[in-house]
Amino acid sequence: MTRIEHHLSEERRFPPSEEFRAASRLGDPAEYERLYRESIDDPDSFWGRVAGELPWMKPWERVLDWSDAPVARWFVGGQLNASAVCVDQHARGERAQKRAIVWEGEPGDKRTLTYAELHTEVCRFANVLKARGVSRGDRVLLYMPMIPEAAIAMLACARVGAAHSVVFGGFSSQAIRDRVQDAGATAVITSDGGWRRGKVLELKHEVDAALDGIEGVHTVLVVKRVGNDVGWTEGRDVWYHELAEQVSTDCEPEAMDSEDVLFLLYTSGSTGKPKGIQHTTGGYLVGTYLTSRYVFDLREDDVYWCTADVGWITGHSYIVYGPLANGATVVMYEGAPNHPGPDRFWSMVADHRVTVFYTAPTAIRAFMRWGDEHVERHDLSSLRLLGTVGESINPEAWMWYRRKVGGDRCPIVDTWWQTETGAIMLSPLPGVTATKPGCATVPFFGVDAAVVDETGQELGVDEGGYLVVRKPWPSMLRGLWGDPERYRETYWSRFDGLYFAGDGARRDADGYFWVLGRVDDVINVSGHRLSTMEVESSLVSHPAVVEAAVVGRPDELTGQAITAFVTLGPDAPAGDELRKQLVEHVSKEIGKLARPAELRFANALPKTRSGKIMRRLLRDIAAGVETAGDTTTLEDFTVLASLRKYDD
Ligand code: ATP
Ligand code: MG
Repeated sequence: MTRIEHHLSEERRFPPSEEFRAASRLGDPAEYERLYRESIDDPDSFWGRVAGELPWMKPWERVLDWSDAPVARWFVGGQLNASAVCVDQHARGERAQKRAIVWEGEPGDKRTLTYAELHTEVCRFANVLKARGVSRGDRVLLYMPMIPEAAIAMLACARVGAAHSVVFGGFSSQAIRDRVQDAGATAVITSDGGWRRGKVLELKHEVDAALDGIEGVHTVLVVKRVGNDVGWTEGRDVWYHELAEQVSTDCEPEAMDSEDVLFLLYTSGSTGKPKGIQHTTGGYLVGTYLTSRYVFDLREDDVYWCTADVGWITGHSYIVYGPLANGATVVMYEGAPNHPGPDRFWSMVADHRVTVFYTAPTAIRAFMRWGDEHVERHDLSSLRLLGTVGESINPEAWMWYRRKVGGDRCPIVDTWWQTETGAIMLSPLPGVTATKPGCATVPFFGVDAAVVDETGQELGVDEGGYLVVRKPWPSMLRGLWGDPERYRETYWSRFDGLYFAGDGARRDADGYFWVLGRVDDVINVSGHRLSTMEVESSLVSHPAVVEAAVVGRPDELTGQAITAFVTLGPDAPAGDELRKQLVEHVSKEIGKLARPAELRFANALPKTRSGKIMRRLLRDIAAGVETAGDTTTLEDFTVLASLRKYDD
């Protein structure tokens, strides 16, 4: 018996308003049903039609070749270039003067690039790369602040046929070094620095430390952003602006094979050492194009803002490739959400009249903690659609987002996907799917998702098990860089012929998927397998709590006992009284067996730099053992130390 139990039931439902439905790209449930069926029953016809909406340089001969499973080949024989898909087609057409990127720096400086201007800048950047000898088949590592040049550099790499490997600008030099070596990168693109919470992130300095003593990188291209002093290695280091003056702004895009590598990207490291995920060109673009179009319901006049960093898959797929392939106007912001004040995001939404807003549960919980007044001060009436990604969102955080940010008017798309999947896999389609707080709802077109038991048999209604995908999809990863065996082993060996990447889920009577967190995090109390997600959600539903993480620690009697780490809202008093109340609250909501044996108040929880709670580290703390495993992706080491010091 290895089912994950399910105890919380959520009765709230939010169908799209008539107004939203009528104006949306897809508002007819019958039409949705027909398209979904076609995407599953006749994927060649469905995906062939979608791919036909992109500009190819040479048409494909075959939509899918799955003969070498689990390595898929999509749009076999076709040729295209990602920068031409995202920029040229718009710059040469009616969108030439449309805003492509609307950027704000943390200090408040602003820049706007139309599609025509973006085209010029991408070509210029590509010619600089060529001038430095970067060419087709190379790998280029990017370590950039969130400035337009980050997106421009990605597109420029794509234009010359080099694969980019973006490393989040908050990572240390060790992470850069590991990734340079793993990918065999020959050039690095960085910046003198970037602004974060009023301070300069010394990016060039980290790159210098990373490359110290290793061979192979012939060029470090430095974009000037903050104007600070930087170290310089003659011959290797070059200022971007100096070379940019010398090159032309004409640059023909390379004709890339559909299956040529577009980029490598390492996972966020919630469960262990990050894996180098490999994505190719054609299928990835088709997948991100279509999901952006339907999940975000993109319309010509939308101002779309995804708050992720380009260093994560969300930034790749939903700041750069997906929205730009659709010719959308994309807002990009450099800095922290609470600089200069906790209302920075909301003042930007109001200033830019943002219509579609996509962020992470960790950010939403931070906004809740900072207080409603910061949201309420601003006019957010331009918003029409909200989204979340990265972790399960607790129903109470979802409700807060809906009420306070969305004015009870905007649908919320809770999107489940992974670095590996490339594009959104489960999500409401906002014009047709009735949403439920905390639920990622239904599979996207072409996604054949299921919940199975340990033998791979599909489970029944509300039975919790393993979330798998049964058919290949265009934007799926093609492998782990340099390690085909580990690819098979990691994703395809647990169940014969099924893709499984670690998450548990259940499916309710409406066929909706509820992601229950990672199966490795499941807690086993006296033979009951409990999802961390449900216990955490019940804690967060108490008015005093804004964030909670629960883990199992070894227990002689029950196998495992629950330890809960809880972060409180601004006015809640920590203490034994509240502790008792919270334990009772869980007991009432879920049952006695889910009662935390131990409940600790914490000022902060250990998170990855993308903001996800790292339960594996909390497990070690709860068990009182040294932290084992990779901590290079941890956001803040002092959090671990202060959690360990805790005793009362
Ligand atoms: P690693 O694979 O190194 O442990 P990671 O899984 O956190 O890191 P990502 O690819 O960034 O790396 O994250 C994907 C994971 O994030 C999913 O497998 C899932 O656990 C979680 N996730 C993403 N979106 C959602 C969502 N909407 N609901 C629930 N979980 C989500
Ligand atoms: Mg993962």
